[in-house]
Amino acid sequence: MKPTDVLRHVLDGLAYQELDAMPVEFHCACNRDRAARAVLALGRSELEDMISKGEHADVYCHFCGEHYHFEPNELSDLLG
Ligand SMILES: [Zn+2]
Repeated sequence: MKPTDVLRHVLDGLAYQELDAMPVEFHCACNRDRAARAVLALGRSELEDMISKGEHADVYCHFCGEHYHFEPNELSDLLG
């Protein structure tokens, strides 16, 4: 799988968990922190590879269409 496919998969999982927790009134609870966690789920080696190539990461929420963009320097910050 490409990194972007993994990101979609991971964020979908988070959103479904949120849906289970609030069956009556659904609102999308995605935010940049969740997107960052989805990015981190790629793993340190994958992120370091992207950073070394100067690649950014894009996370799209399938529920609300929100888009989160992480520049290589922001990926570095996520890794600490
Ligand atoms: Zn969302």
